[in-house]
Amino acid sequence: MLKFDIKKKTGLARVGTIHTAHGDIKTPAFIGAATRATVKSLTMSEMRTLGSQGILANTYHLILAPGSDLIQEFGGLAEFSSWHGPTFTDSGGFQIFSLPSAKIAEEGVKFKSHINGAKLEMTPESSMRDQWKIGADIHMAFDHLAKSENYDDMKEAMLRTHRWLDRCVAEHGRLSGQVALLEGDLSRQRERTKATGPVTSISWDALAKRSERPGARSNAQAKMPLAYSQSLYAVVQGGTFLDLRAESARYCASVNPDGFGIGGVFTADGMAEMLETVNTILPENKPRHLLGMGQEPRDLFIGAEYGIDTFDCVGPTRMARNGTLYTHDGRINIKNAKFTRDSAPVDAECDCECCKNHTRAYLHHLFKTDEITAKVLASIHNEHFIVSTVDNIRQSLMDDTFEKYKRTFLDRYYKSSNS
Ligand SMILES: [Zn+2]
Repeated sequence: MLKFDIKKKTGLARVGTIHTAHGDIKTPAFIGAATRATVKSLTMSEMRTLGSQGILANTYHLILAPGSDLIQEFGGLAEFSSWHGPTFTDSGGFQIFSLPSAKIAEEGVKFKSHINGAKLEMTPESSMRDQWKIGADIHMAFDHLAKSENYDDMKEAMLRTHRWLDRCVAEHGRLSGQVALLEGDLSRQRERTKATGPVTSISWDALAKRSERPGARSNAQAKMPLAYSQSLYAVVQGGTFLDLRAESARYCASVNPDGFGIGGVFTADGMAEMLETVNTILPENKPRHLLGMGQEPRDLFIGAEYGIDTFDCVGPTRMARNGTLYTHDGRINIKNAKFTRDSAPVDAECDCECCKNHTRAYLHHLFKTDEITAKVLASIHNEHFIVSTVDNIRQSLMDDTFEKYKRTFLDRYYKSSNS
């Protein structure tokens, strides 16, 4: 069971710590979107320096390349990527349902690889098995994306998501059982060797020993589960309809997962109401992740206020690669000619590597000449801006200054637009 401590509560908002086998996440926190086991244009060392506490990769992309078996052989996502910290995986459902080739049935989804056209299938069980091989600390249940935003389609998708959740929970439980056996082996081995420390990586010796048992395959590294706890979040669906959201939250809570993802379609305007509905129903003592949200600072404040613990979004780095940068006075487009001779940093109040060392004029020049470093520095800045904004939200909740911080930040950010 995933350990989650709540340190302080204010209404639905909370400050806490998620404890994973690869380290702690102080919440609320913004998790870096590392779709293919990398945050685009950033190294893991840069991610650590800019303050990131976790990364989220995508199961769909990783099963296509390099494959979940290969990541398992390298000790799981945290080891393979050299992130070494807490990791999440999304189930891959969202991406597969978006493919034109997707054929959906109760059993699962058949689709063609966008890379080589190979015919593939993902079911709730196969998504769980692939996520266990990829070995993130936190997995998302395989959910059904509605084919439209109308009520009947949303309800149908939600009900199938619930049926698939039951299958995810069963498969996750079976795989957890295998790991519990392996953890027993490891702890006995540790007692024998007097070794100490938490089980955060695989003991290949232990795996090799098990592989000698009857029925085991010769390639122990690829065939045995990774020897640490992995957790499952149920994903709440229901789109923009509050009655469906409430029904989905009740169902997800009833299967007793380790935490909750909140997914699907909703509007920025309706977000507060939706989160209030869902998070009033979900049990308080388990963490909640808002899937794919966090490009707009306003969403981070609303999310935290209404009980979200972690966020992820590709938006900040995607925007950065196009030259759109956050500042406390709103977004700017650094490619704009007015920055040609601007000697100020991107944001005078930002302490990222880009702002501490470089001028807007320099960044403007790098973008205009299409240098790779333009994307690197811009991504460092945008990712740090969002990560540190959520860090400041956490601190303001601790200090009882959240309302003031929110008002000051949002008034300034959305009042002026320099772009
Ligand atoms: Zn900066």
